[in-house]
Amino acid sequence: MRKIVARLLRALGVMKFDFLAETASTFPSDAGLAQGRLVVVRDGDVEKWACLTCPGGCGRTINLSLNPLRRPKWTVAIDFWRRPTLLPSVHQLNECGCHFWIKGGCIDWCQGGRPKDNSAMHGRH
Ligand SMILES: [Zn+2]
Repeated sequence: MRKIVARLLRALGVMKFDFLAETASTFPSDAGLAQGRLVVVRDGDVEKWACLTCPGGCGRTINLSLNPLRRPKWTVAIDFWRRPTLLPSVHQLNECGCHFWIKGGCIDWCQGGRPKDNSAMHGRH
């Protein structure tokens, strides 16, 4: 319900976000991970992975480890509206090469980190 309200507020221009977070107990299948969804995979109370589809246009699924015992690791914070903030930044090492932060659900592209063909995302910054 909150997600529907969040989308409505975005449509009205009241709120901005590119990603909303959700939690799951299993890995999302590639086909099931739409743009704009960030899935936090947790095992009981332990957050294991943050999964999202690359916003840079290559469409790859990016799996970021949230396990504090592994390197590299990321942390994800989710606000009231389920907008994720991901730390540190995400740097794709494939041909896409995109480099971005997710802050408050919004993609914040690093300088030079934004692919030329980014028709999948629309710039709002
Ligand atoms: Zn990419």
